[in-house]
Amino acid sequence: MAKKQFKAESKQLLDIMINSIYTHREIFLREIISNASDAIDKLHYKAMTESDVPVAREDLRITVSLDPEARTVTVSDNGIGMNKDDMDANLGVIAHSGSLDFKKSMEEHPDVDIIGQFGVGFYSAFLVADKVTVVSKKYGEDVAYKWESEGVDGYTIKETEKDSWGTDVIMHIKPDDEMDDYDQYTDSYTIQDLIKKYSDYVRWPIHMMLEKGAMEETGETDEEGKPKKEWKTHLEDTVINSMVPIWQRPKEEVTDEDCNKFYREKFHDYEEPLTVLRVNAEGSVTYRAMIFIPKVAPYNFYSRDFEPGLQLYSNGVLIMDKCKDILPECFRFARGVVDSPDIPLNISREMLQHDRQLTTIKNNLEKKIKNELAKILEEDREKYLGFYKNFGPQLKYGVVDGYGAKADLLKDLLLFHSYDKDSLVTLKEYRDAMPEGQEKIYYASAESITRAKQLPQTEQVRDKGYDILCFTEEVDEFLVRTMRNYDGKEFCDVSSADLDLESEEEKKEADEKEESEKEILDFVKESLGDKVSAVKLSRKLKTHAVCLTTEGDVSLEMEKYFASLPGDEQNVKARRVLEINASHPAFEALKKAYAEDKERAKDLCDIMYAQALLIAGMPMDDVVAYSERVFKLF
Ligand code: ADP
Repeated sequence: MAKKQFKAESKQLLDIMINSIYTHREIFLREIISNASDAIDKLHYKAMTESDVPVAREDLRITVSLDPEARTVTVSDNGIGMNKDDMDANLGVIAHSGSLDFKKSMEEHPDVDIIGQFGVGFYSAFLVADKVTVVSKKYGEDVAYKWESEGVDGYTIKETEKDSWGTDVIMHIKPDDEMDDYDQYTDSYTIQDLIKKYSDYVRWPIHMMLEKGAMEETGETDEEGKPKKEWKTHLEDTVINSMVPIWQRPKEEVTDEDCNKFYREKFHDYEEPLTVLRVNAEGSVTYRAMIFIPKVAPYNFYSRDFEPGLQLYSNGVLIMDKCKDILPECFRFARGVVDSPDIPLNISREMLQHDRQLTTIKNNLEKKIKNELAKILEEDREKYLGFYKNFGPQLKYGVVDGYGAKADLLKDLLLFHSYDKDSLVTLKEYRDAMPEGQEKIYYASAESITRAKQLPQTEQVRDKGYDILCFTEEVDEFLVRTMRNYDGKEFCDVSSADLDLESEEEKKEADEKEESEKEILDFVKESLGDKVSAVKLSRKLKTHAVCLTTEGDVSLEMEKYFASLPGDEQNVKARRVLEINASHPAFEALKKAYAEDKERAKDLCDIMYAQALLIAGMPMDDVVAYSERVFKLF
């Protein structure tokens, strides 16, 4: 009998698929089981909607059987079955959009593990089999058919015998080669694992005959008259999958403890989650989700190695282990599962990114996670602080990412160290505590809170009775530059040259004073040369002699950060301003030296600048020269 040819498209696809190297051959079982489950769904639906279909729900099942000697894996179902025409129409063509999409991706990225990401349906059997036999009898019909194919050559369909309706898909497993261990697919443990991994939540029971052993009495007795026992094995019909996933069960049936246990097992965390979010959405997209926020960040969370994503299921069948397209990037620490019947099993990775339903789910989850975090912040500060310690930086990166696209969403989840309270406060708390007349939100950046608080330039702001947020993380300054303001109040670095906090009168006085000291200030600027862009009499220093502030967009902390990066950014420099406190004895000493001994005055200028650098935590170019200058004063 002549072989029928696959449709042209199918043939090409099959060829690409079989001859490419895959790391995810194992998904074949998921695909075949999923088809079996669909076939049972169809019959079940028929039984429920038609009067003359006497099929009992409890009899519906999938069976997986192995024959290591014949090297076959068989997936059987007692679902709707197929007749000759169905076989021709369904197994002779790969015309499903998912498959076509797969083909395109395969051609564009031949080395990428695309198959692992989505299914190609029935044809995935050829990933592990060199021959596939499908024996099927359609419900309500008398004749059974056998479809057989060895891959691209085409297929045959013949009449055959089969006791009852349903389908057997018999996969003749390929021999081992240097590249692949196909033998494993005839091993009972491997197959059980694959069922648990990919098909645990298939709605219908998946049976396997498993060898079970026990000590059993032989019927004889030993010398002491006790019954003799012997290790005996027998095959036991066992259901492998757990069928109803925890997220599909009614909320009231599942305790928090159940959820925590599930989380720890599924996501291999030794800690319980901080919180679990359960979503049961119906509307433009129907889905259920169980989202966990971990307590502790995984060791690689802030590295490139960390792979974010939620598990994506379509009706209990795993589509993707770590789907990024469904998880809001700013909450990339969240783990969990999303299960939606609206997402087709064979959706491709490319399609996922543009899928409207996934985008809807992602946006919903974004809101829900945010609200949950806001709730914890409000109701259980301690708990939130624990979370923030681990994931606070991530929220801050979230604000900076995408030019602040998520700033509004995240701004009230941020915490910063308050100078006043010596604890973490929200921006709203800072804002609400602002005394009348305070127009800006002040911050001081340094490598530690202690150093931030010691910065001389905090004095003027503190004197006014204003609180200061202490920034100690690199991302902090980028964050405020992205946000610009909170609730209409601008952020202001206490180290910026002009804080503009004086009254008109004070300003006038200060301007006059500066004018009268112009000569000495010019001298300091000249001595320091390009090291500073300006030298000024300080309006913010009260007790300290000097400090370093900056003009323009780049702060000293940012300069430090850029210096730590490889590449051109190293040259990003802050425009430094040396501020001198005119009422400090050091200024008098400088003026005296200027009048009496210019060389000594020059040394003092250098020392003043060096002191300002030290206080700001900035590196000094020539430490030895500085040290010598200091010793000259002895
Ligand atoms: P998809 O499942 O995406 O439609 P497949 O290539 O997996 O694509 O399957 C093609 C078709 O073959 C199915 O839609 C179904 O009609 C039929 N089919 C496959 N397996 C079975 C089965 N076990 N019982 C009945 N029909 C099946």
